[in-house]
Amino acid sequence: MTLKFDNKKIRSEFPFLSREINNKPIIYLDSAASSQKPQQVLDKLMLTYSQGYSNIHRGLHTLSEEATEAYEEVRIKISRFINASSKDEIIFTSGATMSINLIANSYGLVNLKSGDEIIITVAEHHANIIPWQILCERTGARIVAVPVDSDGSFHLRELKKRVTKNTKIISVPHVSNVLGTIFPIKEISAIAHENNAICVVDGCQGAIHMPVDIQDIDCDFYVFSGHKLYGPSGIGVCWGRGEILAAMPPFLGGGDMIDDVDIEHATYSDPPSRFEAGTPPIAECIALGSAVDFVEKIGMDNIEKHEKSLLSYGHQRLASVKGLSFVGTSSLKSGVISFTLNSAHPHDISTLIDQDGIAIRAGHHCAQPLMKFLNLTSTARASVAVYSEPEDFDALAISLEKVNRIFGD
Ligand code: PMP
Repeated sequence: MTLKFDNKKIRSEFPFLSREINNKPIIYLDSAASSQKPQQVLDKLMLTYSQGYSNIHRGLHTLSEEATEAYEEVRIKISRFINASSKDEIIFTSGATMSINLIANSYGLVNLKSGDEIIITVAEHHANIIPWQILCERTGARIVAVPVDSDGSFHLRELKKRVTKNTKIISVPHVSNVLGTIFPIKEISAIAHENNAICVVDGCQGAIHMPVDIQDIDCDFYVFSGHKLYGPSGIGVCWGRGEILAAMPPFLGGGDMIDDVDIEHATYSDPPSRFEAGTPPIAECIALGSAVDFVEKIGMDNIEKHEKSLLSYGHQRLASVKGLSFVGTSSLKSGVISFTLNSAHPHDISTLIDQDGIAIRAGHHCAQPLMKFLNLTSTARASVAVYSEPEDFDALAISLEKVNRIFGD
């Protein structure tokens, strides 16, 4: 049961909104980089560290048992959140980056050999490029990249053209952090499976904006970071298909991932703990559970609707700014609006509008191959979250007009 979407009430739950930057109320349009935190997440973090903190999975005392239970409850919550078929398919990592490194180093090292191919797109975040490059250096496999259209749209025919009998992994973003393009991950997973490959989805910019149903998508891995989902940094998720995880060797070794250890040998525990060596970010994980409660109370479908209408308003409002060009105008878009403005460098744009209390991101967005593909060095990027409102784009448009006056274009 979700509540009616009430943006004002939601905003009242985010203490950061009382901040002023350069004597102006903050306008935060950088949620794609990291989202701000609602009070209930901050409270949970504080309460856990002050009243419920202990190491997990090893103590037999009350605090340890309580912390273990709270941590494991989040695993159940996350499995429900993405409709996984079992909580044991949820591996806690430090974030999406570590999740993809885990897949590359564990699944990849065992299953890939020289001549094999990993298909990605030109629109990847470096987190979905570099781990595969390292894997290729170690195995002799190679990366094949699928292009996008000039408007940022992705076409399955471009993927199909590049799939061969050597394709072993297809790894794609759910949503591009630069273009905002929503990728057809269900269809991409089907293509991967028809060709005996697996499909990895970098869901960093997906799970934060729309409902995710892993069983419906039918991919093999789906990863995301807690800090973009209104949770703390340092905690993330790697969902993997049960039978694939069961056959994967550990990536990191240490405490909490073993059955029995001798000096020269060890046997490992079953997933997920096989992949969770060492002490995890305990309180952060527990507070991520509160972040999931927060978004579920609002309803991911309501969040999706709110952000969709915001994005459409944002495009309309920014289109009135002279000299502004959008980067990424696919009809299926979520979360971000990237743009350039006349001859102004995106870094200058960001610094100038900060004077008006407006936070956007400027740069290559950890997507240098995409920048090169688009013949750009950088873009400015405004991104939205549940607390964003249309007025944010009014303020951004007015501030960008000022930038125009400074640059005299
Ligand atoms: N993939 C995408 C699409 C992203 O936007 C990001 C973060 N900007 C990442 C991966 C990496 O996430 P993290 O730094 O939280 O590991």
